Amino acid sequence: MKKYLTLILAFCVIAALTALCMTACDPADTPDTTAEDTPAPTDAPTEEPAGTEAPTEAPTEEETTVEETTEEVTTEAVTETPEAGLDHGIVRDGTPKKYITIRMDDGITQDARMMEIMRKYGVDCCTFYINTGLYGANWAWVGQQFGRPDVTHIRYTRAELESGIYDGFDVECHTRTHPSLKNLSERQVTREVKNDAENIEKIFGYKPIGMAWPGGDTEWNEGNITTILETTDIRYGSCTTRNTQMGLGKFSLPQYFMTWYPTCGFSDADSLTLLNEFIAADCTEDMLFYVWGHGYELDIFNTWDKFETMIRTIAEAAEADDSIVLVTNAEFYQLFKDEIPAWKE
Ligand SMILES: [Zn+2]
Repeated sequence: MKKYLTLILAFCVIAALTALCMTACDPADTPDTTAEDTPAPTDAPTEEPAGTEAPTEAPTEEETTVEETTEEVTTEAVTETPEAGLDHGIVRDGTPKKYITIRMDDGITQDARMMEIMRKYGVDCCTFYINTGLYGANWAWVGQQFGRPDVTHIRYTRAELESGIYDGFDVECHTRTHPSLKNLSERQVTREVKNDAENIEKIFGYKPIGMAWPGGDTEWNEGNITTILETTDIRYGSCTTRNTQMGLGKFSLPQYFMTWYPTCGFSDADSLTLLNEFIAADCTEDMLFYVWGHGYELDIFNTWDKFETMIRTIAEAAEADDSIVLVTNAEFYQLFKDEIPAWKE
């Protein structure tokens, strides 16, 4: 009898332990990895393909999963690394200059060919904006939306990013998963920006200070700007709308760094014309030529020759004219951060 009682007791103990384990291992507690998936968006293709941002997929994450998927790093590690844009030692000498800066979004495999061209001409003023929650993601729908299913949109894996492919150029934030920020809670916006910045810092060894708004200027709002300034170290936000469309001069400096409008998109029909106009202009005050795009556009519109022409033109102009200064987005920010406010006071 005593033997049976011992057996029953042992069974009860095992049952209790099993129940405990099941609670502890509840699937609800496991990290949500669905954010890494990249479902095709339901949005219709944009009417004006040239120079538009890659469409953004609808956010699918539940608010309740937010705290369980963070990849927190200690603030100690964050504060020890230098800020982006300070390593080239570019300074202002009190005379007006003509600054040229380039930006490419999404961190996709065409970036390697662009960098090969830029290295050939010694042009290093390009900033690449990456999404560190989408390592290796294949957005085949981007090419399909342009009627070019042969054109890839494949992001670099973490291992590729760590291999030094972006050496000599700047890498900054494009949010973790490229969501439509205006549709997210403040906590989600913070996580999207902060985690991307933390991952970039871990990979590249410097602290990002800027971002490119994902999905273009229809996908963020002023509330997002306030949230990002209050909860992250990001101090500029690169836009997609041409500055002339915002009532600014085509070569003007940004009014606010968090709404930094470019001169033009690379795929705009007049981008080379604008560059030549900028190079020829008298330099009586600080001016900026800021062109942006994506590597996949060069495949879609067969504009690799145009890109090489642009880079060669920039290299030759900088060589011939001391007033022309090549800067990455972060380098420009560091030069002007004391004069141009991040946002409205
Ligand atoms: Zn993008």
